[in-house]
Amino acid sequence: MPSGGRRDWDLIVVGAGPAGSAAAIAALRSKPDARVLLLDRAPFGRDKVCGDGIAPHAVAELESLGVHAVRPEESVATVRLIGPSGGNAGAVTTSPGYVIRRAVFDARLLRAAMVAGAEFEVAKVASLERQGASVTLVNGRWRAPVVIGADGSNSVVRRLIGEPTNHGRSLAVAIRGYAPTPDGSKRELTIRWDSQRSGGLCYAWAFPVADGTTNVGYGLSSAAKEHSRAHLERRLGALLPEFDLEGVALTGHTLPLTVSRPRPAVGNVLLVGDAASLINPFTGEGIHSAIASGAMAGRAALSSAPGANYAAALHARFGRQYRQTTTLYRIIDFPLVLDTVIRAGRNDPRMFDRLLEVGLGDAAFTLADLARFGRYVF
Ligand SMILES: Cc1cc2nc3c(=O)[nH]c(=O)nc-3n(C[C@H](O)[C@H](O)[C@H](O)COP(=O)(O)OP(=O)(O)OC[C@H]3O[C@@H](n4cnc5c(N)ncnc54)[C@H](O)[C@@H]3O)c2cc1C
Repeated sequence: MPSGGRRDWDLIVVGAGPAGSAAAIAALRSKPDARVLLLDRAPFGRDKVCGDGIAPHAVAELESLGVHAVRPEESVATVRLIGPSGGNAGAVTTSPGYVIRRAVFDARLLRAAMVAGAEFEVAKVASLERQGASVTLVNGRWRAPVVIGADGSNSVVRRLIGEPTNHGRSLAVAIRGYAPTPDGSKRELTIRWDSQRSGGLCYAWAFPVADGTTNVGYGLSSAAKEHSRAHLERRLGALLPEFDLEGVALTGHTLPLTVSRPRPAVGNVLLVGDAASLINPFTGEGIHSAIASGAMAGRAALSSAPGANYAAALHARFGRQYRQTTTLYRIIDFPLVLDTVIRAGRNDPRMFDRLLEVGLGDAAFTLADLARFGRYVF
């Protein structure tokens, strides 16, 4: 739906990925007649470099917004975690995950936002001015009392409000491609952590798509001494030898991790998803947190105190996890840590569930969890 030349809006959302679409939908659920403009530099149906793994938590978050974005044939019910020393834990999860190419998944969410009443425009935002109670974008072309920056890991909105970007250990780099699924392979979501120390996150994944291909990729912290493209490709091949990568186009992108986050709101400009560095530092999960943060920001945007209400909601839901993962991330380089976690997951189904809740959802480990891990150190 074109914006019809209108300048003034109740809410403008920059970026129509999962975070932006969720923000627009949540705002319109709270106030159906609100005028919500969703801007993206790319046309409808754009792709996003990603593992395409949609956690059950993301699906539940969307359901709570009244959006049904996944199909049964796209589900994958088994998760396998392989530690740096090769030990592995696998289990059928209570609710399945999904693997959906992002061009498809994101288009479903954007369509849901447009059906809810958002208007979509293709425009690249390069300027933002905060003047009194309003924010103007794209050299004054559009204006609203509240703007949500959902423009991904290289967020321009974040830069324009003066928040620094992630780097070093708080930023990961990853490549991914679509390899033919080997005959007879199990339909599982596999994450395999690397035994080579990198100074932070480093693992490969293999997530089967419903079209006969598997999304394979490898990512590591940008603090790693060696993080050239050639190195990433070598490690991908070494960790997933069962895949034929010959001729597979591998594309790269960055992941800003929660261990260093900007302020969630500056005045009435709110940051969500990757623009707010909300990717889990252990698993690389970012779609659930993009949708959850987008929904919280969308609800807060039309309230009397958008920035304060959004920051409080984000803190109440994820604050404990962010504090804890930031601490635990400091010891992730010791293979013993991940190997212990995998061993606990293999021997104790309750711990496997807890790993998924912390790695994919909004939970934090309890003292009782940490004590249970202690039993599996050696
Ligand atoms: C290789 C890789 C693998 C990953 N695998 C997974 C996975 O399997 N599961 C998972 O949960 N997470 C994964 N992630 C993380 C996940 O991709 C992100 O966390 C998620 O896409 C964040 O959603 P978002 O809406 O915040 O940002 P995005 O999806 O990046 O959307 C941002 C939108 O903003 C638009 N935009 C950018 N700049 C501007 C501008 N100046 N003006 C207007 N529009 C703009 C872009 O076109 C884009 O549509 C992976 C990330 C990478 C890099």
